[in-house]
Amino acid sequence: MSSRKSSSSAKSAGAKSGKSRRLTSSSGDSIGSGRKKLLADAMLGSVARKLRIFGFDTAYVAHTDDDYVLKMATEQGRIILTADKEFFKRLVSRGADGILVEGASELADLEHILARLGVKHVDVDLGSRCAACNGLLEQRAPAQVSVPEAVAGSKEEFYQCADCGKVYWDGGHVKRLRALAATLERRLAARPAASKG
Ligand SMILES: [Zn+2]
Repeated sequence: MSSRKSSSSAKSAGAKSGKSRRLTSSSGDSIGSGRKKLLADAMLGSVARKLRIFGFDTAYVAHTDDDYVLKMATEQGRIILTADKEFFKRLVSRGADGILVEGASELADLEHILARLGVKHVDVDLGSRCAACNGLLEQRAPAQVSVPEAVAGSKEEFYQCADCGKVYWDGGHVKRLRALAATLERRLAARPAASKG
């Protein structure tokens, strides 16, 4: 069992080689095609929730055991998202797909991940994925869900997670997420076209 240690000692590893930019993806351009399935590691729970809201199939493991994460990603064909440089090097060496993020800013991490995936259009995909558990959402009529009365009276469309039962609707929180999506889209559009990092 190789459990991950703090990556604070990894700072010097990529800096002197000048190769750190290339480490941002283990498979180069292949990531850019289609909508890939993702697997966020323990440090990226919040990033995972946002990606789900944007419609990405994003599993999350609170687990810190490398072998477990690698096995799950391989079996399910997922790209691993991690802020752990040492783990990233190991997953590259084992031929897994991964995207390394800084882990300092959620906005920067999301931008980096979406850029690496070749995503240009970002929006809230209400009714797609449960932010809490990545389960698939199903549409419900107001009478079918248990929500505050004021919400039930003012909204027509509801979605419920088939796995955990959580109910979603187009409320104020969605407005904020749409603003985040718009910000991300602007930042993605402003990146140099040839940028691979
Ligand atoms: Zn759920």
